Amino acid sequence: MARETKLEDIVSLCKRRGFIFPGSDVYGGMAGTWDYGPLGVALKKKIMNEWWKFWVEGREDMFGVDAAILMNPKTWVASGHTATFSDPLIECVNCHGRFRADKLGDFPANVTKEQIVGAGIKCPTCGQMAWGAVRQFNMMFSTHVGPIVDDTSIAYLRPETAQGIFTNYKNVVDTIYPNLPFGLAQQGKAFRNEISPRDFVFRSREFEQMEIEYFVRPDAWKESFESLLKDVHFFLEEKMKISPEKIHELEVPEEDRAHYSKRTVDVEFDYPIGREELMGIAYRTDFDLKNIERESGKKMEYRDKNTGESFVPHVIEPSFGVERLIMAVLCSSYSEEEKDGKTRVVLKLPENLAPYRFCVSPLLKNKPELVEKAREVYNNLREKYGNVTWDDSGNIGKRYLKQDEIGTPKCVVIDFDTLEDGTVTVRDRDTTEQIRVKSTEL
Ligand SMILES: [Zn+2]
Repeated sequence: MARETKLEDIVSLCKRRGFIFPGSDVYGGMAGTWDYGPLGVALKKKIMNEWWKFWVEGREDMFGVDAAILMNPKTWVASGHTATFSDPLIECVNCHGRFRADKLGDFPANVTKEQIVGAGIKCPTCGQMAWGAVRQFNMMFSTHVGPIVDDTSIAYLRPETAQGIFTNYKNVVDTIYPNLPFGLAQQGKAFRNEISPRDFVFRSREFEQMEIEYFVRPDAWKESFESLLKDVHFFLEEKMKISPEKIHELEVPEEDRAHYSKRTVDVEFDYPIGREELMGIAYRTDFDLKNIERESGKKMEYRDKNTGESFVPHVIEPSFGVERLIMAVLCSSYSEEEKDGKTRVVLKLPENLAPYRFCVSPLLKNKPELVEKAREVYNNLREKYGNVTWDDSGNIGKRYLKQDEIGTPKCVVIDFDTLEDGTVTVRDRDTTEQIRVKSTEL
């Protein structure tokens, strides 16, 4: 490979080819938001569908839920978000720039103004050293529900999908009577008012999660944790085709874990911005269900059908961020190759994730008989696979380069021989090799 992939390479490809655009671009943008174009939404949906197929449809111990984004505010009191879901914020008294205090240098989350001044950190905007005190900034987006705007109508856009699962645990247990262990899975949007969104879609204010709460007997959490962690690796390596050398497990030490967690593993990926969390798996004990019992006054017990004993299950949570997974897939797939003094950008997406499986073209667009035959091949493939694209612009070489950049595995070209014997040229994205096969064998 020519050189290390940089984040700018990915951002630039995403914008150039219609994967991901800055949010509200036409109005000058909206910090921390991103919009998906035709190619991006295709990739995103494929990733999310593969996740759902693997974790939910592919298993008999998993069930889906889809909870509302707006939830009763008691949810966030019970979960602790109202009191403690915050980042340290510091303001420059001179220019009123606001920054995430711990990110101004190598500081802990409980950094103080004195530490920042002691380290000689100046305001990144105006260059002065005129810091106010560090205060905690709650990251939940608040809004008002209904026509009355006062403290009783306040609600939050959910900062995580997990609580929508926990609050439905009892509904599911009482309606479909699953046996332990079982998991509830949800995909959906979550919102965090990040002080400084950064690194492309890695840390944005509106994002999408894919979370599972896996309910187990309290004495059986270890085996379930191990087996879910193994499945995470299988999913990333076999379904997302992420190279195992780029995936690392970080056993989160006790002092860095949430107080209720007895074990947390961050699965990290070697992004161009460094080794960062791709997903996490945490043993959350009965923390969440006990919180709901306390705040709602309702029992969250599970009654074992065979023994008759009742207890509150413990929970293991595998949590994926869709955008972080998209970024890992894009970074794993991106490559640049030098050939004849030219750089070829290739997105080596696996077939199951590529926005288009085939691109079909007539060799020449001004020969009606070629176009007609090519349309026939295109329609047949489209009927069979769905995600097939048509391209008759420019010359064949340019079409190949474009399809390489958007990750289309195979380009199919119809020429005069096709009219004679029904064979087409199939050009491979990764090897650039061309073979001839019957169009009916594709
Ligand atoms: Zn300033």
